[in-house]
Parts: sequence; C-alpha cells; structure tokens
Amino acid sequence: MKWEGNRESDNVEDRRDGGGGGYGGGGFGFGGRSIGIGTIVIALVGGWIFGINPLTILGLLSGGGPPAQVQQQGPAHKPPADDRMAKFVSTVLADTEDVWTDVFTKGGATYQKPRLVLFRGATQTACGQGQAAMGPFYCPGDQKVYIDLGFYETLKNRLGAPGDFAQAYVIAHEVGHHVQNLLGISGKMDQMRSRVSKTEYNALSVRLELQADCFAGVWAHHAQNARQILEQGDVEEAMNAAAKIGDDALQRAGGGAVVPESFTHGTSAQRQRWFDTGFKTGTVKACDTFSARVL
Ligand SMILES: [Zn+2]
Repeated sequence: MKWEGNRESDNVEDRRDGGGGGYGGGGFGFGGRSIGIGTIVIALVGGWIFGINPLTILGLLSGGGPPAQVQQQGPAHKPPADDRMAKFVSTVLADTEDVWTDVFTKGGATYQKPRLVLFRGATQTACGQGQAAMGPFYCPGDQKVYIDLGFYETLKNRLGAPGDFAQAYVIAHEVGHHVQNLLGISGKMDQMRSRVSKTEYNALSVRLELQADCFAGVWAHHAQNARQILEQGDVEEAMNAAAKIGDDALQRAGGGAVVPESFTHGTSAQRQRWFDTGFKTGTVKACDTFSARVL
C-alpha cells in the first residue's frame, strides 16, 4: 500500500502511555466478578474479533451491560511523530475521512469523523472497559474506534494475515461500523436485541458485520480512484484477512466444531464476497446486506 506522505488525521488519540484508563485492580471493569474467563473465551470464539460492540455482547451474556455515557471530547493526545505504526494508522484514518466525507456530501449528508484511540492492554470507553483481547472494536456511544496495535501481530502471526493493506482493512471495517452508526443502522440493531432470539440476533449481526466489510471495500474503491494507494497483492491481503477472521475459520482455529447459528460475523467466503462487492461498486447501496437473499 502506498501511504507515506499522504495526509494524517488529527483524530488519533494516543492513550498508550496510560492516559485515559488502563488496568486498575486487575479485575474486569464491567460486570465485576460475574464475568469469568469462560465468558471471555466463549465471547472471543463467538466473534469478538472485529465486533461492533463486544462490550455490549459481554454485558448481554453476563446479564446487564454498563451504562452508556458519552465521554468528554478534549483535544486528542497525539502519538509521537516518529512512531511509524501510529503514522500509518493516522494516514489510513485520514483516507477514510476523505472518502466518507465525499460519499456523505454527495448523498446530501454530513460526515462526522470518528476518533481512533490507540491503547495498550485496557482502556475506558463509553461502552465499558475495552480490553486488547477483544481485538479492535467500535463503540457507538462515544463514536470511537479502539485498537491495541498488538492486534496486528496477532493478525500476522496467529491468524496468518500479514500485510499493510490487511491492517488498513481492519481500520476501514471499524470505520464502516461508524458509518452504520451515522446511518442509524446500529441503533436499529440495538432495538432488535431485546425483541429477537439469540439465533435471530446473531443472523442480524452477521449482516451488520458483512456490511462493515462491504463499506471497507467502498473505502478502498474510492481511495484507489483518488489516490492510487494500491500495490500488487494489496487486495489479496485484505481478502486473506477477511477469510482468516471469518467465523468458520475462527471456530476451526479455536479447535471447536463449526456452528453456523453462532456466527456473528459471517463465513470467510461471505466476508470476502462483501468486501469485494464494496470494492468493485464503490456504492453504499450495493452494501445492503440486510435485504440480500444470499449472503
Ligand atoms: Zn465488525
């Protein structure tokens, strides 16, 4: 991916030096002792990686989530200028800002930029305490994407998805959840949660996640048209990452049986297909996973 020298975002908040939360007393900040390691493991296997709001899912499993509060928006504590990885993340975020601002403007709407928080280990969010083990996630309550950059090591070494464009796809997917939040889709999902069965909710969650993959593809489409960011093998890197984090692949990797009803993110093939749909068409309309008969 060709990104060096491109614009960097002002919306990256660096909490890696411990500012803004972290491990307090060794316990999990939400739900207290009722959340054992079993729940954590189940939630992980059930698709925490890339979840829209894993904290809510965890709250659901333990019978009561944390209250959602919007945090105060002070100026972002920026990462150091010589931090190459932070620079990369900041450049990708800026690129998503440019693309989605454009897409929203053309659709007669205004894009509100999300913030991206770099943290290490654990951090406070409007959705409860975020943990690195969850993988990157988006919290609709404070409109922030959270990522512990250690996840990229996991992606490369444990999940077998290396490459800078795979890393960019991760951010674009989370930003896709922010777009869903702005479009009111996340809110509708939240309302559904109490009305439908767990199996039905999982099925909806799959559509939500596949749409975020499709939106990541929409970003890649426009970024390529505007800035020619792609190099040989980049799309394959994103497609490979999409495959490696499919629910079936993760369940297999977890050593368990593949249980389709428990899927919350979609299969490898579906995740690849929807990223590709967004990438080829470049339109939000093409990403209507909720009406699609075949995922
Ligand atoms: Zn997701």
